[in-house]
Amino acid sequence: MSKIRQTVSCLDGYDPDALRVDKAREAIRACLVPVAQTERVAIREALGRVLAQDIVPTINVPNHDNSAMDGWAVRAKDLHSSKGSMLKEVGSAFAGRAFEGSVNTGECVRIMTGAVMPSGTDTVVVQEICHPEKTPEGVRVKVPHGQKKGQNVRAAGEDLRAGVAVLKAGQPVRASELGLIASLGIGEVEVKRRLRVAFFSTGDELASIGTPLAEGQVYDSNRYTLHGMLSDLGVEILDLGVVRDDPAKLEAAFRDAAARADAVITTGGVSVGEADFVKQLMDKLGEVLFWKIAMRPGRPMAFGQIDQAFLFGLPGNPVAVMITFYQFVRGALLVLAGRTGELGMPLLKVKATHTIRKVAGRTEYQRGVLFQENGTWLVRTTDQQGSGVLRSMSEANCFIVLEHERGKVEAGELVDVQLMETLQ
Ligand code: AMP
Ligand code: MG
Repeated sequence: MSKIRQTVSCLDGYDPDALRVDKAREAIRACLVPVAQTERVAIREALGRVLAQDIVPTINVPNHDNSAMDGWAVRAKDLHSSKGSMLKEVGSAFAGRAFEGSVNTGECVRIMTGAVMPSGTDTVVVQEICHPEKTPEGVRVKVPHGQKKGQNVRAAGEDLRAGVAVLKAGQPVRASELGLIASLGIGEVEVKRRLRVAFFSTGDELASIGTPLAEGQVYDSNRYTLHGMLSDLGVEILDLGVVRDDPAKLEAAFRDAAARADAVITTGGVSVGEADFVKQLMDKLGEVLFWKIAMRPGRPMAFGQIDQAFLFGLPGNPVAVMITFYQFVRGALLVLAGRTGELGMPLLKVKATHTIRKVAGRTEYQRGVLFQENGTWLVRTTDQQGSGVLRSMSEANCFIVLEHERGKVEAGELVDVQLMETLQ
């Protein structure tokens, strides 16, 4: 059972003791196998899920050529090129109530937005520039010159064309896709089954909410940040609580989690002082790699597989948990859930307002605040950057991503930022 080790060792420049962030990501991706099962759900249920089928329209949207404006539907060839034209109104067309007849030379039809273009017409002239006049023979409409053939007409199929796939398997269903599928009259779609993700916290020092805090204890916050971050991804969440640093209890927890979930996330227990005994245990249960990643915060991390479940052993420090989750686990879970295409989080370049300490040779994820000054967006770091200072995450609205090779940042230099609002 050395599948993972084999896959990873083939990667160029793989060094588990000084692993670059991009290499760690590549190593994880190389091992992942997306869930295969799919299910058919009513479209509202598909929101936040991953499509398991292409969506190919069987109809055109819109279904007919129709008017984009209120005005008169005319035949372009009836219009003079250099002077106004007088046309005879022969009826009207509303959205959902078409003009039944056909339009002949010198005739026009009063038309409203969304109405089907009457047979024979090809152009709509907006009502604001036309001059209708009542005469004993009916309404005559004066249309000024300078109209373009086809103007203000929405062509059939301009939004969606029958037979041309508009959504692909592997895409997420968001509000816009939901509406788009509905516009085709489709009521049910095939989606990937929801990914199941189990997690637990490890540590003898952890207290759970509802129990008093004894000397030397801290309340477990990692299970709550994980709950929040996983909820944003739309996966099924299994919170398995706090597990003490006790081999028998940990073994039972790992076995239980791996049996019930596609991915297992643990926090704590991978740092140098603790790694040996957890490592032995993980080695016994499956195939797990222990990494020292060239990053800050979040240096130690474990990745592997126990039975069919992928394991992400995150550090214990609350900020390190969030950063390693966003940088490694989030993308991995999206892949496992069946997502394809671009899954990275965009990096934007923004000017830093002050110097930022940084040493070359590791990627840093500093917590930042993007703010506007005289209409320009700038970024500063939050006051405290310690990996135990969860407040820095709460105060931040972005990560300042300082790349591997970069040294100290001078005030006024451009830095990469990742918006927290897009971390979904
Ligand atoms: P560890 O990686 O287990 O050595 O933990 C590193 C630090 O993170 C220690 O100060 C722990 O007390 C703290 N820590 C670990 N797990 C949690 C947790 N679930 N909630 C809050 N702090 C934690
Ligand atoms: Mg610990």
